[in-house]
Amino acid sequence: MAWDFSTEPEFQAKLDWVEDFCKLEIEPLDLVFPYAVRSRDPKIRALVDPLQQQVKDQGLWAVFLDKELGGPGFGQLKLALLNEILGRYGSAPAIFGCQAPDTGNMEILAAYGTEEQKERWLKPLMNQEIWSAYSMTEPQGGSDPNLFKTTAVRDGEEWVINGEKWFTSAGRAADILFVMCTNGMFIVPRDTPGVEIQPYPSTHNWVKYKDVRVPRDHLLGPEDGAKVLAQRRLGGGRIHHAMRTIAQCRLALDMMCERALSRESHGKIIGEHQMVQEAIAESYTEINMLRLMVLWTAWKIDNTSTQETRTDIAAVKFTMAKVLRDVSFRSLHILGSLGMTNLTPIRDMYANAPSMGIADGVDEVHKVTVARNVLKSYRPHEGLFPSEFIPAKREQARKKYADLFAQDPELEQYADRMQRYMESRR
Ligand SMILES: Cc1cc2nc3c(=O)[nH]c(=O)nc-3n(C[C@H](O)[C@H](O)[C@H](O)COP(=O)(O)OP(=O)(O)OC[C@H]3O[C@@H](n4cnc5c(N)ncnc54)[C@H](O)[C@@H]3O)c2cc1C
Repeated sequence: MAWDFSTEPEFQAKLDWVEDFCKLEIEPLDLVFPYAVRSRDPKIRALVDPLQQQVKDQGLWAVFLDKELGGPGFGQLKLALLNEILGRYGSAPAIFGCQAPDTGNMEILAAYGTEEQKERWLKPLMNQEIWSAYSMTEPQGGSDPNLFKTTAVRDGEEWVINGEKWFTSAGRAADILFVMCTNGMFIVPRDTPGVEIQPYPSTHNWVKYKDVRVPRDHLLGPEDGAKVLAQRRLGGGRIHHAMRTIAQCRLALDMMCERALSRESHGKIIGEHQMVQEAIAESYTEINMLRLMVLWTAWKIDNTSTQETRTDIAAVKFTMAKVLRDVSFRSLHILGSLGMTNLTPIRDMYANAPSMGIADGVDEVHKVTVARNVLKSYRPHEGLFPSEFIPAKREQARKKYADLFAQDPELEQYADRMQRYMESRR
């Protein structure tokens, strides 16, 4: 029996270590020194560096990368089990060297970079000596890459990039920007003349690239290969977000259940009111469905490939967004007015939930992918009626018993009576 939902003891020991480490070290750091992991202040580094060293000593640094790409090569399933712990704590992914958007950028650098490019950018990214951002979406449209206009033109030994990008997460703080152009993916140091970060939005930046000149070797992967690199990058990112989303959903459920047992209304604790119970039961079940879907998809990637798992990754993408929206809403609602404040994590979780249905591709586009791919394994039926049309199927089935009916007319009469009875029920 190959289906097995257990975790091997050695890896479970690692997960237990991660759980304790996050609770005892990362959560306090996040509460007292938010964003510490990105600080270059030596006093703050003295708090972060020893934690990251512990992660490295455990062999858990940059766990998203396969062995041949420079990581421990855990694969997606183990990564999922790990991420469903890390996702609960704001800076945990960065403390473990697996934070977005750097992860996706490192993945394409590792997969498509020349040795020289890896040396120059991958190593410092893995060591968090530098940070990166990903410039794909443009102000005139994000969902349809055919609308993108940013282009690089060759001029001697240089490329000259012109265009505008919208919602480049952490672009302002990045050392290098991965810029998707119509004719290739380029790596652009942020301080290159012509890179103009607009004053708003503050976190996900609007970046204008005006006659930005980079040397020839800043093209990543083949010329005209940007869409392939983008797919590779986003495929991984989507499932990693889903793994962390499970953690967020669980946090919402934990908060909902604790509160349900702690408050009273109309003579009962609120957890005894049936509608609150419904919210808890539905949340618990939806989280388990999502979790199984994510773990199974991760397992399928490990056993086939990201490409062959495209449909399932797309299905996970919009499902996690829906589960997070629903569960975080129920949790906030059960916390009542307290849920509407910034005194617990639930308000921000609920406010950010819609972004899961937009970032890395809007729900609608993923639903179209799923539906199209599912439809590929179907054919239209012949004639007027579907293949499940009962009269035709029954006619066919009766042929199986033709010899029997010839031998035993009573049996045929019985079948006729049953047919009349079934038809009378329509
Ligand atoms: C938190 C967050 C972080 C992000 N980080 C980055 C980043 O680092 N780099 C980057 O380049 N981009 C980033 N993005 C941008 C993201 O990639 C885009 O928002 C996304 O691709 C959608 O593009 P858009 O916002 O232009 O929406 P549009 O493409 O304008 O879509 C708006 C709406 O139109 C409808 N719609 C669009 N297409 C279809 C369709 N085919 N069928 C049916 N309905 C449709 C949907 O309702 C959709 O929500 C980020 C977004 C978020 C929310």
